[in-house]
Amino acid sequence: MAFESLSDKLQNIFKNLRGKGRLTEADVKTALKEVKLALLEADVSFKVVKQFIKAVQERAIGQDVMNGLNPGQMVIKIVNDELVNLMGSETTEIALRPASEVTVIMMAGLQGAGKTTTTAKLAGKFKSKGRKPLLVACDVYRPAAITQLQINGEKQGVEVFSMGDKQNPVNIAKAAVEHAKSHGFNVVILDTAGRLHVDEAMMEELQNIKEAVHVDQTILVVDAMTGQDAVNVADSFNQKLELDGVILTKLDGDTRGGAALSIKATCGKPILYVGMGEKLSDLEQFYPERMASRILGMGDVMTLIEKAQANIDEDKAREMEQKLKKAQFGFDDYLESMAQVKNMGGISSILSMMPGIGNKAADIEAAVDESKMARIEAIILSMTPKERSNPDLLNPSRKKRIAKGAGVDISEVNKLVKQFEQTRKMMKQFPGMMGGKGAKRGRF
Ligand code: GDP
Repeated sequence: MAFESLSDKLQNIFKNLRGKGRLTEADVKTALKEVKLALLEADVSFKVVKQFIKAVQERAIGQDVMNGLNPGQMVIKIVNDELVNLMGSETTEIALRPASEVTVIMMAGLQGAGKTTTTAKLAGKFKSKGRKPLLVACDVYRPAAITQLQINGEKQGVEVFSMGDKQNPVNIAKAAVEHAKSHGFNVVILDTAGRLHVDEAMMEELQNIKEAVHVDQTILVVDAMTGQDAVNVADSFNQKLELDGVILTKLDGDTRGGAALSIKATCGKPILYVGMGEKLSDLEQFYPERMASRILGMGDVMTLIEKAQANIDEDKAREMEQKLKKAQFGFDDYLESMAQVKNMGGISSILSMMPGIGNKAADIEAAVDESKMARIEAIILSMTPKERSNPDLLNPSRKKRIAKGAGVDISEVNKLVKQFEQTRKMMKQFPGMMGGKGAKRGRF
């Protein structure tokens, strides 16, 4: 996961600050020096780091301490605010024309940045918002790019417009827009040709397309793994093409993440989305606040909630909440929760968004033995439906039968039943835990 090392370092720096009752100016200066190093190591551009530290320092020294925050927390809050500022403060949506008109989006980027993949990912986003996108294969230099777009378009259930590799990209773009108008498409996404490096011929071709079809949005796709280069590429494209926004790919990989922190400050254009994997669903809208929270190890609870909403059936969730409140849940509910965890991308994906866990998620997941989950599943599946809904029925002879059915030792069955009873007991004691009035809210 991106930012892993930056996040670890910042959390350590802040842990030291938190431990102090009062902060002197020297404490703040030392901490900021360490923050500066951590940012540089994360590949954030030097100029940006300098501005960032200056802004934090100005606010941190002679700062009126906010109610309820100690000085250490105050510095963290300032760093958080400035990280958010750096990344653009607000979330920028891709501006679309009304659905009755055709919006033309041109995707640009170097070869290998992830342009073709991102084009298809984006089409999926528009489709889920009720738009009718048309993907256009304008990369006539690499026949494989056309095929790749067609395959991805098919996976997304989105039509791909192609005229093969013998036509000029400007003509293809023009024909595609006409096709869209006459066939009811309202978002045209042009997948253009990339090159290995920024070069004049590529820029000229993109400018020609832009003029010929009145492109509404010019979006650059850059690879976060390339660090500083990503920022330089964004700058060059912006100068020639006047970008509307940037999509940063491969932020799931082992990137240091500096590009995400530098692009807005360097070229003034917002990051619109971030690519978090190779699957066509792995594209997340970019929220500066949430990203800052993740970097500072404060979790990304909003994204977690959205993932939950997308994957969990609300009626079932409500039913589960009632059962938990009344401590009436059975083993079937246990199975269902396990399935939902899987749907949301597994334990490590969920944990990584939790406050205070962040980068430790992978370690925790390693400790939660996957085969153990499979054994729990086998134990529950070996129970009769009656036993699952009424665990009180589980006497020793039934437990023995279940252990045999699941191919495990009886001690594992006992352990699971005991855990289950403890959970039920706990739920009975804390009726407010499920977000009721008694629930405590976390503080910064
Ligand atoms: P293009 O040359 O710019 O069109 O790049 P492609 O779309 O062909 O992507 C190049 C490679 O990057 C492919 O193997 C993609 O699967 C991969 N890729 C694209 N976006 C992401 C991402 O967000 N995360 C990861 N891990 N891989 C990505």
